[in-house]
Amino acid sequence: MKILVLNCGSSSLKYQLIDMEDESVMAKGLVDRIGIPDSLLSHKPTGKDKYEVKADIENHDVAIKMVFDALVDKDHGVIGDLSEIGGVGHRYVNGGALFPQSIITDEAVIKDMETTFAMAPLHNPAHVMGMRACQKLMPGTPMVTVFDTSFHLTMPPKAYTYGIESDVAEKYKIRRYGAHGTSHRYVSKRAYELLGNENAKIVTCHLGNGSSVTAVDAGKCIDTSMGFTPLAGVLMGTRCGDIDASAVTYLIDNGVVKAEDMANYLNKKCGLLGVSGVSSDLREVENAAAEGNELAQKAIDMLYYGVEKYIGAYMVAMGGLDAIVFTAGIGENSIAARKAILESLSFLGVKVDEEANNCRGEERCITAPDSKIKAFLIPTNEELAIARDTLELITK
Ligand code: AMP
Repeated sequence: MKILVLNCGSSSLKYQLIDMEDESVMAKGLVDRIGIPDSLLSHKPTGKDKYEVKADIENHDVAIKMVFDALVDKDHGVIGDLSEIGGVGHRYVNGGALFPQSIITDEAVIKDMETTFAMAPLHNPAHVMGMRACQKLMPGTPMVTVFDTSFHLTMPPKAYTYGIESDVAEKYKIRRYGAHGTSHRYVSKRAYELLGNENAKIVTCHLGNGSSVTAVDAGKCIDTSMGFTPLAGVLMGTRCGDIDASAVTYLIDNGVVKAEDMANYLNKKCGLLGVSGVSSDLREVENAAAEGNELAQKAIDMLYYGVEKYIGAYMVAMGGLDAIVFTAGIGENSIAARKAILESLSFLGVKVDEEANNCRGEERCITAPDSKIKAFLIPTNEELAIARDTLELITK
């Protein structure tokens, strides 16, 4: 069966068509600048040349229609007819506590989703727009939604509750939800297979433009570094990570950043970019640091240190640690980041295998055979995880 995976953002849409016979990607692409002049569809059929269409794409209905046209196009397409698509899997950023697992998505489910819009105002409404467009354009094709937050819903109350008044927290549903759950689930599942021990205690480090660290005990998430929104945790590309809330109110009180601009400031202007003043891209920050830029070096040190602290905290939270997993852009590609983070744990008997670690994007164990705690590089694949859930639910 062929499954279409859709990740609809407010002004963009990413897609992959996956043949579940062998889990191969038949085509993937991106529609950018939806609702903004000069939109662009960039479509890459596997084994064929990239195909681009520039047009004004006013909304998600039009964007999805263009994706469908590209998929069946006689030159750039990969299927003869849309009826070959057996199901659509949608990514959903924050389903709150309402959606503990992936779900077949019909009208009643979409109505429930509409109550979660405030939890990710940029993302959640856009996901629903994508679902509505599919309902119109391919009625009858089953849809499944996979939530970034589901994997984290096994956290105990002591891990997800903030120290604010209980009635306020309850009324406004303020708690730690975490993010990147589909990625943490995918790589931890793979780590359990590699370890051959389903009771292992694992810390998964999804380090990319957005980064989060998760404690997974016997397959269940027990804590994660992102919070009510994906702003919390370790230093990220443009997000500040953990910060004392008083620093935020101080900036507002002193007129440095207006209250209404604060979310944008903390999400887009801080992190590696804000600290280094160079870039949000770790490669550029690494280059600047190598040329002697001290702020760039400090930003890198902060990123590593944040991850190291979370690993330590989660080791205590789980009462032990069997393995650490690195994934996403930085985790899969930065040899220096993995080495530095693992070397900080040498007092626990962690021994990096330098040769094994000297690689990018390949699944492997990167610690020496006698290392007390194992570490793995496991490339993430959120689209495949979504496609697998979709297939499983619609064929049940
Ligand atoms: P993602 O959001 O998962 O795509 O990850 C993006 C981040 O991965 C950016 O900060 C990139 O600089 C980083 N990244 C990608 N390749 C490398 C590399 N070879 N070395 C260091 N960082 C990398």
